[in-house]
Amino acid sequence: MEQVIHQPARDIRVVDRSDVVVVGGGPAGIAAAVSAARNGASVTLLERYPYVGGLAAGGMVLVLDDMINELEITVRGICMEMIERMKRWGLCVTPTDRDRLIEFRDTPEAWQRWARWGLFDFHTQSMPHPICFSAAFDPDAFKRAAYDMIGEAKIKLRTHSWFSSAIVEGGAIKGVICQTKEGMQAILGDVVIDTTGDLDVAASAGASHVDSNFILTTVSRWGGVDTEAAERFEHQEPEAFKALDHEAKRLIGGCWSFWWLKTPLPGVVWLNCPHMPTLSGLKVEDLTKAEMEGRARIAKLLDFAREKMPGFENAYVVDFAPQTGVRQTRLLQGDYVVTKDDVMTRRHFTDTVCRGRDYYTPYRSMLPKEVDQLIVAGRHYSATPQAQKSSREIPPCMAMGEAAGVAATVALNAGTTVRKADIRAIQKQMRAQGADPGDIPSENATYLEAAE
Ligand SMILES: Cc1cc2nc3c(=O)[nH]c(=O)nc-3n(C[C@H](O)[C@H](O)[C@H](O)COP(=O)(O)OP(=O)(O)OC[C@H]3O[C@@H](n4cnc5c(N)ncnc54)[C@H](O)[C@@H]3O)c2cc1C
Repeated sequence: MEQVIHQPARDIRVVDRSDVVVVGGGPAGIAAAVSAARNGASVTLLERYPYVGGLAAGGMVLVLDDMINELEITVRGICMEMIERMKRWGLCVTPTDRDRLIEFRDTPEAWQRWARWGLFDFHTQSMPHPICFSAAFDPDAFKRAAYDMIGEAKIKLRTHSWFSSAIVEGGAIKGVICQTKEGMQAILGDVVIDTTGDLDVAASAGASHVDSNFILTTVSRWGGVDTEAAERFEHQEPEAFKALDHEAKRLIGGCWSFWWLKTPLPGVVWLNCPHMPTLSGLKVEDLTKAEMEGRARIAKLLDFAREKMPGFENAYVVDFAPQTGVRQTRLLQGDYVVTKDDVMTRRHFTDTVCRGRDYYTPYRSMLPKEVDQLIVAGRHYSATPQAQKSSREIPPCMAMGEAAGVAATVALNAGTTVRKADIRAIQKQMRAQGADPGDIPSENATYLEAAE
């Protein structure tokens, strides 16, 4: 029988209270907190790590994609604001034509110019994939933009605060308890938004969910890479390149078609690999194993690349992402569960409050069935595992966070519960702040103007 220890009940100090408490400072959480605060709510943002940004910063996932429907940019709002801030610092690259209009091109020239930035539509079957609007960025620039926006909106940020349990009374969430270096701390709120990515808050509060998993990855960055020489070799000697690339992929033991991509820092590339499919992002043993296994595979790859691959002779590891790359764990089974068919057939819902690439997200998929005053936004939203795989990229998660922040304030201002929040008011406010709630058919969509 499993051995257990009984923990006695204890008093926990209440250290803060806000209208809205956002748990998890990743892309969805940043957008939720900024959106709620800009709409007049007092907001506390809690994050377990010393920094904000989640997988986009600590996970060093460095391409913002899944935000276009051909030429129409479907994710705008706070996500686009972050892109524009990072572009001003020269730390974000987007495919543009004379810095004005976006491209959606499937020409070999466009492919050669942009593919190694990862700025292509990977959902199309055709090769080369069309180059489309998406953004390659620097992880520290993402943090900087987030901190600036958090500061400007006067959000109470509490890092080093590891959510531990939900405070639920009479079927409604009243706040959360965090583990910190100072011991347990309670933070109370009228609305709580779960943006932990792993559904930590909603699961603790008793919300229905499924446990799933999909590929863990220890992302790394390499420096000292002559990317021009590497690309020249790839384009001018395709057969020789193919053979070496094949061997590199064998050493990695699972990756997408490109195992290295360029970043805005000269000579620095990021590696969105290796794939470790059978490990769970919720299990301590698996997460520990992923870190050791991933590093061992990358070490072998580096030796090989330095010895054999043109452009990589002087490559070295800059860093491994401090945060393990976890794509999917718990998924909410909320008031509506988005299916793969919904995503693939672009099903529209009357309560659509945000969009991903060309699909729509209903507000009901952000609401747990069993708990009131709790909104869920980000990669753990209410979807089937198959649907989540094609709707979990950073921009749609930010759009969901932005909508959650708006929904919280719409409900608070109307003196009603988040479940009864006026959908039209949420859609209207999303549009007012430059986001696309997906309520108006796409003929009315706008196109990207030059950021500068
Ligand atoms: C290896 C990899 C490659 C990917 N490639 C791409 C890509 O190229 N482009 C793209 O757009 N998307 C990509 N994705 C998907 C994307 O990164 C995520 O789906 C997205 O970041 C989800 O955002 P989120 O805010 O929902 O969750 P997360 O980014 O996971 O953020 C959750 C936040 O909550 C915090 N948190 C978690 N638990 C607690 C707790 N108990 N207490 C306090 N804080 C907590 C975390 O520290 C984190 O800051 C990739 C993902 C991975 C793993």
